[in-house]
Amino acid sequence: MFEYAPAPESRSVVDIAGSYGLFIDGEFDGGKDGNVFKTVNPATEEVLAEVTSAGSEDVDRAVAAARRAFGPWSSLPGAERAKYLFRIARIIQERSRELAVLESLDNGKPIRESRDVDLPLVAAHFFYYAGWADKLAYAGFGPDPRPLGVAAQVIPWNFPLLMLAWKVAPALATGNTVVLKPAETTPLSALFFADVCRQADLPPGVVNIVTGAGDTGAYLVQHPDVNKVAFTGSTEVGREIARTVAGTGKRLTLELGGKAANIVFDDAPIDQAVEGIVNGIFFNQGHVCCAGSRLLVQESIAEELLASLKRRMATLRVGDPLDKNTDIGAINSAAQLARISELSEIGAAEGAERWSPACSLPDRGFWFAPTIFTGVTQAHRIAREEIFGPVLSVLTFRTPEEAVAKANNTPYGLSAGIWSEKGSRILAVADRLRAGVVWANTFNKFDPASPFGGYKESGYGREGGRHGLEAYLA
Ligand code: NAD
Repeated sequence: MFEYAPAPESRSVVDIAGSYGLFIDGEFDGGKDGNVFKTVNPATEEVLAEVTSAGSEDVDRAVAAARRAFGPWSSLPGAERAKYLFRIARIIQERSRELAVLESLDNGKPIRESRDVDLPLVAAHFFYYAGWADKLAYAGFGPDPRPLGVAAQVIPWNFPLLMLAWKVAPALATGNTVVLKPAETTPLSALFFADVCRQADLPPGVVNIVTGAGDTGAYLVQHPDVNKVAFTGSTEVGREIARTVAGTGKRLTLELGGKAANIVFDDAPIDQAVEGIVNGIFFNQGHVCCAGSRLLVQESIAEELLASLKRRMATLRVGDPLDKNTDIGAINSAAQLARISELSEIGAAEGAERWSPACSLPDRGFWFAPTIFTGVTQAHRIAREEIFGPVLSVLTFRTPEEAVAKANNTPYGLSAGIWSEKGSRILAVADRLRAGVVWANTFNKFDPASPFGGYKESGYGREGGRHGLEAYLA
């Protein structure tokens, strides 16, 4: 059942203790079998709430509700669908304080980030796609762009509400209906979003939320009455989903992992680059698919840059996600902490030099100090595998050719950064990088109008912008 207390003006802005049901056909319910799982606050290890674990019959009901809603929803004039999306965007803005706190509690991310980055971007995606809903017929998608039908959307835990917005907003704008499964460690903001849909009077069945673990997701994506699968998560699960979907006629987009190179040339503005490196790898505890997790620095400035980077890292505040001065919050789960710790140990054992600033970590909860490894070579596992934590691997290069070769020497191809005063160099290097997004003299900048997606093992298809609509149109 859905219970929540609206935000009081105190530190405990969101009183979320309680049990949360599935959102199917416009109603919350406790699922057929009554199975539940617990979601914990990663900063304290305290249980935040109990959430229903959806079984196959619950998923069947959600898909059936989405199917029933599809006809009427897709028949609405685009301008009418736009009104709902605009309403959702405005309600998100109105409730953004409550949602930001909720996101930080369930995910562990600093409130400064959920308040200033996640929530504004969530609202921006709904505003942006609302603006498209009545323009599809004239925008070059073909003479009669039609929605696909029921979209199954499975998302990860690193940006729970933002990943939802990336997927739900374009699906609804194009007239599709949705069954979304949030990650099992961060289910709460999706359920609060369901409440936003009710507040916006969205017709029942247009958005359905089923909570549960990987088996719930696996059942949802193979469902015969699903027309489109959109997945963001690990490359391993993405591969499994691609196998499931192959030959079924379902459309598929995959947004998977990354191992981005952040390339700093000797003419880069050093202070600005240091900020970009810090933002690139420590934003959201490094739980970012496009994190700048490999720093490639030109040999001649490596010493100066690393000294400056270490001074900057010493000022980072690690701790309580709800403290607005916190720079680095909690690692999302014990399992993720174990993975980061393991790869960090492997990095040290393989001979790279590990450094972290002195910082005291809270006794309870899941924490990892910001860490850099120097003396990393391409053979090291920390140079090749996605760590998905606040750990930076530093490599050096002498020539632009070597930088490009090292940057591309990865099975992934999601993003990259280039730091240089020379526009011509930036353009020449960007052109040769196999990365879906290349930032110049900045990093981790997002806009709903920009397409986002990867090459190689980072997935296929694009989300965001006009491309994000194509993925939902026949
Ligand atoms: P994950 O693949 O384990 O889980 C992602 C989601 O898939 C969760 O909701 C999970 O319950 C579900 N799931 C698990 N097994 C499934 C199955 N067999 N069938 C269907 N659904 C299943 O990944 P994660 O640990 O939640 O997220 C971390 C990974 O996601 C990282 O590798 C990261 O790079 C990637 N990621 C990519 C992007 C992007 O846009 N490219 C964005 C965020 C995260």
